[in-house]
Amino acid sequence: MPAYDFIIVGLGTVGSATCMTLARRGFTVLGIDAYRPPHTMGSHHGISRSVRRAYLEGTAYVPMAFRSWELWRKLEKDTGQKLLVKTGNLTIGPPESSAVSGFMDSARSYDIPHECLTPGEVRKRWPQLALPNNFVAGLEKEAGIVFPELSIATFLAEAEKAGADLVMDERVDQWTENHDNVQVHTAKNTYESGRLLISAGAWTNRLLGLPEKRLKPKRVPVHWIEAPKNNHYNIGHFPVNFWQVPMEKSSGSPQTYTEFYTLPGIGPLPQIKAAFHNGLVDCDPSTLIREVSTDEVEKIKAVISQFFPGLHRCSITSEVCMYTMTPDGHFYLGKRPGSNLVFGAALAGHGFKFAPVLGEILADLMVDIRPAIDIKLFSPNRFNLEKQTR
Ligand SMILES: Cc1cc2nc3c(=O)[nH]c(=O)nc-3n(C[C@H](O)[C@H](O)[C@H](O)COP(=O)(O)OP(=O)(O)OC[C@H]3O[C@@H](n4cnc5c(N)ncnc54)[C@H](O)[C@@H]3O)c2cc1C
Repeated sequence: MPAYDFIIVGLGTVGSATCMTLARRGFTVLGIDAYRPPHTMGSHHGISRSVRRAYLEGTAYVPMAFRSWELWRKLEKDTGQKLLVKTGNLTIGPPESSAVSGFMDSARSYDIPHECLTPGEVRKRWPQLALPNNFVAGLEKEAGIVFPELSIATFLAEAEKAGADLVMDERVDQWTENHDNVQVHTAKNTYESGRLLISAGAWTNRLLGLPEKRLKPKRVPVHWIEAPKNNHYNIGHFPVNFWQVPMEKSSGSPQTYTEFYTLPGIGPLPQIKAAFHNGLVDCDPSTLIREVSTDEVEKIKAVISQFFPGLHRCSITSEVCMYTMTPDGHFYLGKRPGSNLVFGAALAGHGFKFAPVLGEILADLMVDIRPAIDIKLFSPNRFNLEKQTR
């Protein structure tokens, strides 16, 4: 008999939620992390993450978004923690942009309450935002933000309460699989379980032994803009906003877009968070450059002064986070091709809002229950199978 039913490597966003779910279902679970989550070395730091249900990345995510919202609220009830706050969310761009059309498709297909606002209507409600005249904004009022560090600490506290063993500051180097168990090796120990989940964020590709760059870590500079102390950019006065802005194009070439977002300030020293969502560079998580260059700051300043004129002269501090991108931008969830006992998860830069439902889905998969939500879109088998050798 293996010592544990399940081992989870990586106790960040998806690992901590899955650990909690499996432990609450009565399984023996060991969670291992190279650091001590929540921390600033991976993909989950930075105080806020947007949560929405009118999902511009595809209607397939909407049922999952509904279930996740329900589970965030349930976790708040279970623990007394305030994890999710409503702020409203604007998706901004030309009407034909994939962001605005994806938002509208999801909102209409699932009757999600929403409004489609003209630039004038946006200016009236939020004079902080300067939309070009040919843009529109999809507003989902019932959207908000979750607090990632507090959420992960809560998942882990609940996991421990339900009996999970958690090992921190111990890096997993490799794993081996026999026909009915898995061994997980660190510099200090070897652990054994019936099944294994690798939820190591930007390190997942290497640890799962996937073909190079199947799951690509990307470096994400994140900027904190010191807003005027007038409350106009704080929660309650300023919605989450995501922009898709057409780039200049030469005739005959397809239209491309710059994507960026800002999130409202929280607390007495309001700092707005701003970052680009595309045009990111590949990185190696182990040698990641964590300093942000002057050029990178100038790039965000350029969009801020164009679309948020009131923030033009504000000072900016910056840090670095990471995405783990898949070739098609959708999640990677499920059994590693070629393996019967080892599972993997990667969230393609937009997964925090789904943490509780992903915990539920992965817990189902790991005990051979078909998840209630259709997850075909996220199957590891959708990529070229033959190339997946260790
Ligand atoms: C700047 C930024 C903004 C974002 N905004 C949003 C948003 O608004 N809404 C949203 O839904 N999503 C957002 N995301 C995406 C979301 O935060 C990520 O998709 C999510 O946090 C990824 O979770 P993860 O569990 O894969 O990785 P992580 O949370 O990084 O967890 C991975 C864990 O694995 C551990 N680990 C790695 N290697 C090993 C090893 N060898 N042994 C043991 N442990 C190991 C790490 O220490 C880490 O704790 C954003 C991401 C970034 C970077």
